[in-house]
Amino acid sequence: MPRVTTLFRVLKSWGLTVEYVPGWSTRGSTSFDPVGVVGHWTAGPRGTDKRPSLRIVTEGRPSLPGPLCNVYLDRRGVCVIVAAGRANHAGKGAWRGYSGNSRFLGIEAEAADNADWTDAQREAYPILCAALLDAIGSTDAGMVCGHSEYAGPRKIDINGYTPNQLRAQTQSVIDGLRPVGNLDPEEDLTVSQYTELKQGIDSLQNSIQSQQVDFVSTAGRAGQTNFIGALEQILTLQRQILTRIEKLELEKES
Ligand SMILES: [Zn+2]
Repeated sequence: MPRVTTLFRVLKSWGLTVEYVPGWSTRGSTSFDPVGVVGHWTAGPRGTDKRPSLRIVTEGRPSLPGPLCNVYLDRRGVCVIVAAGRANHAGKGAWRGYSGNSRFLGIEAEAADNADWTDAQREAYPILCAALLDAIGSTDAGMVCGHSEYAGPRKIDINGYTPNQLRAQTQSVIDGLRPVGNLDPEEDLTVSQYTELKQGIDSLQNSIQSQQVDFVSTAGRAGQTNFIGALEQILTLQRQILTRIEKLELEKES
């Protein structure tokens, strides 16, 4: 695998908000065969929604040529793809018997230190890890590590996350259990998610109704009663979702 040029498409497919630095698909060395992901923070300035470290992680610094990561995660949880090829992020060290920048994708999150993660970053980070593993054909969250685990005492990122928690969350995402945070269960879907759910139910209803004539002519009385009961349940669900969408829309407007 010379460069991971599927990054944009794969990250999008995991529902992440994705941007890129122009030239990303040809940035970074082609001697690249990643099997895992190393997590970092930028140790940049505190308290800004801007992207103070994006330029450095793209272009590098006098002592270390860029790119310095594959994906930069800003404070709003936006994944900015910096490089599809090998990046200078891990340095000396090893994780699970693999060593070197050619074996690991690198994430740089804009954060000053372990107390400086935003909720948006915490939500996006494990999904990003799952997506990066997906891009290299892996479903093993054990191949995600923090720089501090890879490099030992010379590095402290991302020990405050913590990496154990990150691996557990990443595995949950991979296994289809996306972390939903501490949201009120009533508030856990957005309008667009409700709309998508309703569209799914609508199409289910259509497909049931299109087979209704066949079914009713062949099923007995009990079958017909069950069938009508199921349709009524679907209609009730549709009404509940519509009410919920309307309420969310109203809240958004007010
Ligand atoms: Zn680091």
